[in-house]
Amino acid sequence: MIPIAKPFIGEEEIDAVTAVLKSGTIAEGQKVKDFEAAFARYCGTSDAIAVNSGTAALHVALLAHNIGNGDEVITSPFTFVASANSVLFTGAKPVFADIDENTFNIDPECINEKITPKTKAIIPVHLYGQSANMEKIMEIAEDNNLVVIEDACQAHGATFDGKKVGSFSTGTFSFYPTKNMTTGEGGIITTDDKSIAERSRMIRSHGSKQRYFHEMLGFNLRMTDIAAALGLAQLARLDGFNNARIRNAKYLAEKLNKLKEIKNPYVDSRCGHVFHQYTVRLESNLPRDEIASLLNKKGIGTGIYYPLPIHKQPYYRSLGYDDSLPVSEKASLEVLSLPVHPAVNKEELDTISSAMQKILS
Ligand SMILES: *Cc1c(COP(=O)(O)O)cnc(C)c1O
Repeated sequence: MIPIAKPFIGEEEIDAVTAVLKSGTIAEGQKVKDFEAAFARYCGTSDAIAVNSGTAALHVALLAHNIGNGDEVITSPFTFVASANSVLFTGAKPVFADIDENTFNIDPECINEKITPKTKAIIPVHLYGQSANMEKIMEIAEDNNLVVIEDACQAHGATFDGKKVGSFSTGTFSFYPTKNMTTGEGGIITTDDKSIAERSRMIRSHGSKQRYFHEMLGFNLRMTDIAAALGLAQLARLDGFNNARIRNAKYLAEKLNKLKEIKNPYVDSRCGHVFHQYTVRLESNLPRDEIASLLNKKGIGTGIYYPLPIHKQPYYRSLGYDDSLPVSEKASLEVLSLPVHPAVNKEELDTISSAMQKILS
């Protein structure tokens, strides 16, 4: 079986985690500090604040920016539900703006249509490893005095105009095992704003700067040193992982280009795409489920990210969401992701492309 995702854990990771276990300091300590410094350096930001999931990173970033009751936050409906759930948990209201049909990322024109006097922030999601149009989004934010929180949970190392995602404004990343690098579970917030960094650190740890003195409301969302040691080893490999994904995606695109029933990923010339997912759009008469099951029978793992846009999810319907967002709705019916993670080799890519050719011919 060629799985749709697979974390790479080598000897360095095992040694790094073992060393932490032997040291006796296993909760948040020096390793977390080292990981934060290394991740901030990687993204080109002054600060990074490690937490225990990508969802926590989004939630903390929103709270650090004082977003809550009565506020509206514009985001994409075509993403993992965490992008919007984190907004709901602050008491603010997620407002969905439709996506661009080529990149699957939030369409800046649609953001403009959704701005009201209550709008406080925009959460662009860099879906599948490709940056949203950060030039336009930062312009809109500036013109309307809005906060930007990048959901870069699928885009570690991706760039827009040569600049790393997570460094345009406040950034959030996930280290779940299927992502481009992992800490088991984990997340991080990146920022150049010292006051946002300080507030994020406090919210992560019960609102305290000094132990047992609490200046604001917070949670326990800390990362462990065990996870941070894993993260340091993975970060050292991240560019290598991403290059392997890019190489695999390029190879697969060349092989699949001839098939007129599928549309290969569109790469914006201003973007450094890191292919968290290699997602094609199916334009075949054969139903998507059937194509996926035929691929699965040949030992090829597939994914559908995402089969139902957030505004159509039962919970969101129960809250009264009934938007019509046709580009997202159409995409959710047509997308199919194929494996390009670093463990996939050329032979397996050939297997995938010949299976695809057979199924669609
Ligand atoms: C994975 C992911 C998250 C949430 O990260 P967790 O670590 O699973 O909490 C948020 N947004 C997007 C786009 C993601 O892919």
